[in-house]
Amino acid sequence: MSALILVNGEVRDDCIAAGMQALRKGAPALDVAEIVARAVESDVKDHSVGFSGLPNIMGEVELDASIMDGATLATGAVSALKGYLHPISVARQVMERLPHVLLTDAGAARFAAEIGAEAGDLLDDESKAIYLKRLQAVGKEWAALREIRDWSEIANLESLISSGKVPLIDLVTRAMRYHEGGDTMNVIVRDASGHIVSAVTTSGVAWKYPGRVGDSPNIGAGNYADDRYGAAVATGMGELTIRHATCVRAVIAMGYDRRIGEAGHETLRDMSRIAEARGAWIRMLLLDRNGTVGGYCTHNGSTLKVQRIDESAPQVIICEHVI
Ligand code: ASP
Repeated sequence: MSALILVNGEVRDDCIAAGMQALRKGAPALDVAEIVARAVESDVKDHSVGFSGLPNIMGEVELDASIMDGATLATGAVSALKGYLHPISVARQVMERLPHVLLTDAGAARFAAEIGAEAGDLLDDESKAIYLKRLQAVGKEWAALREIRDWSEIANLESLISSGKVPLIDLVTRAMRYHEGGDTMNVIVRDASGHIVSAVTTSGVAWKYPGRVGDSPNIGAGNYADDRYGAAVATGMGELTIRHATCVRAVIAMGYDRRIGEAGHETLRDMSRIAEARGAWIRMLLLDRNGTVGGYCTHNGSTLKVQRIDESAPQVIICEHVI
């Protein structure tokens, strides 16, 4: 069975190529997954991951990431990490250096500083402009929000909220009707020795409440790998995949010898038990123990990319529409 890299369709080919070069040199799956994830975290055009990711409702980028080693079931994750460019590398270090699996917010930032992770401003002009546009659109509902006209006035938002002029809960609820971003980065790597690693990195849903943690750092929800059965990674509204433990369900289904397509369709279809899941956008990528890949999505037109070690370029495959 050949080594391979599987990602969501939005990942640029050059990000895959960086991982493929390492895979061809015999790098282990952990290294390859980290290389691909870091490349996407640096992609300025991707407003859902790493640098230039869309911020929370207060205008701060909070990053979530996790990595799972299917050989040992070791995992590491960070959530609501601010001010660091490569959350995937911090997540890996959590796995390798701490007796923990998940660090959040200030604790995650403290650890990132301690290990010498690269710090940096996560917003660029484009992500600031998208944020301000949304705030102004929502501002039609609260006159006070019109006082924030450009980025230099963003600090005023805190006082508008603490003075009660703008209720934060309502602001989040209304702003989140705009579904920007949504291309969380998913990668599954199988290396030459057959080991599987899955990794997820994201800025999470745009306009979220500060401190909101999605499925990406929640092992079992947005990410799961077990060399014996395969791996699963997900994108979409993380509250749903957390409630449903989607990725671990799909991997266990493959462990019970469901064919990959059955595991994909049945797992996503089962989510419709959750009322809010009906009509929601969820995509899951799977790799089974035989090296077969599959993508399943509740909406049409979503894609995955897969490149096997002997192929010269990634293939784009349309995810199967789950109804
Ligand atoms: N799953 C991510 C989250 O809920 C968002 C996404 O996939 O776009 O944070």
